[in-house]
Amino acid sequence: MHSDHITGLASLLGDPSRVLTAPAVIERLSHDFYWYSPVLRPKLENKNGEVAVQPVNVDEVLAVLRFAGRHEIPVTTRGAGTGNYGQCVPLEGGIILDLSLMDKLEEITPEGVAVCQPGLRLGVLETEARKRGWELRMYPSTLAKASVGGFLAGGSGGIGSVTHGGLRDFDTVRAFEVVTMEEEPRIVLHEGASVHEILHAWGTNGVLSRIWFALAPAVEWMQATAVFDSYGQAFSFTESIATDPAWTKRLATVFEWPIPSFFSPIKKLVREGKSMALLMIAADQCDALQMAAEAAGGEVTFAGRYEGPRTQPLLSDYTWNHTTLWAMKADPIYTYLQCGFSPSECREQFRKLRESFGDEILFHIEFMKNGDGVVIPGAIPVVRFTTEERLNDMIAYCRSIGVFVANPHVNYLEEGGRFRPDNIQLMAKQKYDPRGLLNPGKMISFHKAVTQ
Ligand SMILES: Cc1cc2nc3c(=O)[nH]c(=O)nc-3n(C[C@H](O)[C@H](O)[C@H](O)COP(=O)(O)OP(=O)(O)OC[C@H]3O[C@@H](n4cnc5c(N)ncnc54)[C@H](O)[C@@H]3O)c2cc1C
Repeated sequence: MHSDHITGLASLLGDPSRVLTAPAVIERLSHDFYWYSPVLRPKLENKNGEVAVQPVNVDEVLAVLRFAGRHEIPVTTRGAGTGNYGQCVPLEGGIILDLSLMDKLEEITPEGVAVCQPGLRLGVLETEARKRGWELRMYPSTLAKASVGGFLAGGSGGIGSVTHGGLRDFDTVRAFEVVTMEEEPRIVLHEGASVHEILHAWGTNGVLSRIWFALAPAVEWMQATAVFDSYGQAFSFTESIATDPAWTKRLATVFEWPIPSFFSPIKKLVREGKSMALLMIAADQCDALQMAAEAAGGEVTFAGRYEGPRTQPLLSDYTWNHTTLWAMKADPIYTYLQCGFSPSECREQFRKLRESFGDEILFHIEFMKNGDGVVIPGAIPVVRFTTEERLNDMIAYCRSIGVFVANPHVNYLEEGGRFRPDNIQLMAKQKYDPRGLLNPGKMISFHKAVTQ
């Protein structure tokens, strides 16, 4: 990038030290957890931005986007950089718009809606909300680090989704303001259904600058582990908790052996060969859980109160996509898929996958509610990687037997499972970023539309 551009950017921010160019810093701010994928790793490791800017308010965001537009410089927005598919890796250099300093919680309304800046960390919001009788409806297992804006733009759901669905469901994302990359950038309010034009679009069609995020009344939670001789027993037990509305729950996870052996800090809670369930349920249902587990042939090996994100052990640290991290730590050969099994056919689907792929695929189930209110066995299976072709065969086979796959081994939106078939994210990009400067290369249908 021309040094005049760096000087120009420095003059826009109140403090020029918030324009960063040190190579090691740029390298760090250019990457996320894309290396989870052996397919994305070689493609993205050498991709870097050229300069990072750290605005502290929306006026600075407007000024940076105006400057970038005038000079046709790409802009890649970054929250905390915990994405898994290289979402915030700049493919064409340019500016990294690091929003980590825009981290104010403005208020929690009496109706339980948090109003905040995008860089606010989810863990801080959970802690603040619980002090006031509220809590996050759902959060990724990266709670401590991930930002609200990054979750909305790059995530999908997590702990809490078994009751409250994903981010796009049940009006959880009430509204946000978006800064556009038009000739003259504007701040546009999206509320109600229009949030879906921008939600999970990886910062390709606007920069979220202020967010209204609905919370749930806080619950006194208990975390528990239950172990079973077989995966079938553990699955059926957890399914019965997840699907029965009588249980108040935040997490219903199942692992088959050897996945629990990867969790070195809590490995003592399970014996060799057993399958394991991790649960968060209302504290006053703890005795009932113990009885239900015994009746299902299992044993509760740990039960302790959840006291907020700093609780130790924090069982959510082993769930959702943290499970893959533990597997990769145990053996770098492992990677993962993101699947949705059929509630009625899942046992048959498990059987077919085992028959075709043996222990190349290890079952890790996360029960979650879908947008129709049905609790389904979502899954982030651990996969032993051999070749990209074999991985693609597994994905194709899953789809052929009715298992939904959001492919985490591509870094463009359209294959990732959250791209809207009605193309409203694409239409918003055509409107808000007609020159294609926001996170270029991540919404490939936009480029197709331009070149046709
Ligand atoms: C160990 C591990 C576990 C995970 N578990 C989960 C999980 O349970 N559920 C889940 O959904 N995800 C999960 N993820 C993925 C990721 O942590 C979450 O999606 C997280 O919420 C991303 O937040 P972030 O602030 O790090 O976003 P970033 O990685 O910084 O950004 C994500 C995307 O959003 C864009 N973006 C960021 N901020 C803005 C903004 N203000 N406006 C517009 N675009 C923006 C970026 O350009 C990028 O495309 C996991 C990842 C890891 C490494």
